[in-house]
Parts: sequence; structure tokens; C-alpha cells
Amino acid sequence: MRKCSTVRCHKRAFYVSPLNGRSFCEECFTAFFIRRVRRTISSKKMFALDDRIMVAISGGADSVCLLHVLKTIEVNFPKVELIAVTIDEGIAGYREGALKFAKGNAERADVEFSVISFKDLYGISLDELVAKTAEEKGSLKPCSICGVLRRKAINTAAWELGVDRVATGHNLDDEAQTILLNILRSDIGHLARLNASVRKHERLIPRVKPLENVPEPEIPLYLYITEIPYHNTQCPYAETAMRTDIRQFLYQQEKKHPGTLYGILHSFEKIQAALQRNLGHEAIRLCKICSEPSVREICKACRILENATYKGTFLNKEVR
Ligand code: SF4
Ligand code: ZN
Ligand code: ZN
Repeated sequence: MRKCSTVRCHKRAFYVSPLNGRSFCEECFTAFFIRRVRRTISSKKMFALDDRIMVAISGGADSVCLLHVLKTIEVNFPKVELIAVTIDEGIAGYREGALKFAKGNAERADVEFSVISFKDLYGISLDELVAKTAEEKGSLKPCSICGVLRRKAINTAAWELGVDRVATGHNLDDEAQTILLNILRSDIGHLARLNASVRKHERLIPRVKPLENVPEPEIPLYLYITEIPYHNTQCPYAETAMRTDIRQFLYQQEKKHPGTLYGILHSFEKIQAALQRNLGHEAIRLCKICSEPSVREICKACRILENATYKGTFLNKEVR
């Protein structure tokens, strides 16, 4: 029987980290899990002692885990306030189920909970948008549309709810995938502003990712030990994303060469400072259509929405 490697703990191990061969019993694993998130938060100075923090929860494993881990850490910081928000993109047969888990977990964590939908904010659901743009040549993939509109919806909600920070459940695997995706798409500008934890504009609420050092497979383990339920169904659009291919590629690499994901993240952190020095911090202004923060005259969300809703007029606006 393999034993937990923690000093003076002789309990039976239930997990062995492929990264360093360290074995954990259930208690030592949860303690280690929380400690690692705390370290990430403090090393990156993610929160102030009296922040009102909005946790963006989808109902899936990552965000639900984040909510409960922050709730555990929050006990030692009585001036911090946590709230949870779910963005309902309008994905039939998927979002309804996830919403139940999001609501249930917000109740379990005893935090204020709100739902903001694409339909309310933009007058159109993701399903409707995808159906409208599907026939167009070179139209954006559902995940690209969803990502842009969801980021904007999260920022709008954060502004309206008066929070200081938005915390999202992105884990180590997500971060490595995003870095690689941006490199493959040559989107260096996006890469430079990937971790926008500094407030660059009053209307742009900084986002932080406290799980960025947590490998994805460890999240369901934590939820299993702590008996936290989550939505375990894949979004029907997920297969269309280039991210899915990158996820599979990185999964193979990590299996063959443990530490690959940390390598990507740490390399990125080193080059990001240089990138920001070279590209400078892009000025944030308010979009001429929706008055939300944007690096362009008209934000990407408005360009997507205008294109889908009033096809034809959009191109006459000479939008860059
Ligand atoms: Fe949105 Fe794509 Fe995620 Fe589905 S898989 S919720 S479409 S980003
Ligand atoms: Zn132990
Ligand atoms: Zn706009």
C-alpha cells in the first residue's frame, strides 16, 4: 500500500502527482490544493483585503471549485465579500442544466447569486447568433463569438454589481492552451494583455485566475473529496473549437513530458513583461456604440452583433 508522502502522515495515498511522484492522502491533498491557490493569490497580489469579488461561475468543475476554494480562504479575510454570477449565453439543452449547478453551489457557498443572459444584454442568444452567421463565408466559430460576448457580459455585470475584481476558474491547462492558441493565431496583442489584473480603465474590472497553477485533472479530485456537485456535460459547440485540438495535443505532451504545461505558463510570464514593454499598454477607450471599454473605437462584441443583426450597414462604418 502506498502511503501519503507528507511528513508524519501515514495514511493511505489516493493520488500520486505525475509531476513529481509525490503521493497524497485525501486530507493532505485538499490542504495542498488550498495552499497552492493561496500562494498564487498572494504571489500575484490578486486581491486586496477588503475587495468585493465576483466569481464567474458556469456550473462546471473549474468555476464551482474556485467558488468553494475562495470561500474557504475567505474565512480568514472577513472584509472580503464574495458574490457569484452566471452568464447565460442561450445554448439550448446545455445551459439550463449548468445553471442549476451554479445556483445550487452559490447557495451552498452562501453567496449572493445573479444570472445575466445574452438575450437580456444583447437581445439575441448565442444559438440565434450562430444560426444567423453560420451561412456566412469566413464567419466566426461559435466559441469565438461566445468568448467575446461573455467577456463583455462579465465586465458589464462586474461594473453594475460594483465589484473590485472578477475571479474566473481558468486552470493551468486552460492557460497553456490559450497561450499556444494566441501564438498559433499570431495574436500577440491579445497575448500581451492576457492577464489583465491591473485596472487600466475605471470601467474595465480586473480579472484574476486563482487556479492558474492547478492542473485540470486535480480539480475533479478536489470536488470528489469535498463532495461538491458540478455540471459535467460538454457544451455542444465545444467540438468546433481549435482549442479542442490544442487541448488534446497538450494532454499528450504533458503525459509524455510532465511539466510541459508549467513550462508554457512560466515561459509566457517571462516573455509577457517584454511584450508589454515593446507593445506598450494599449489605451482603453469607450466603445462608440455600447460605451463599454475597448481597445478599438468600436468593440469586438458590437462588431459581431452588428454584423449578425444589421448585415451590410456594419461595413460602412469604417471600423478598423
Ligand atoms: Fe461558449 Fe464555446 Fe464554451 Fe460553449 S464551448 S460555452 S460556445 S466558449
Ligand atoms: Zn496525508
Ligand atoms: Zn461596443
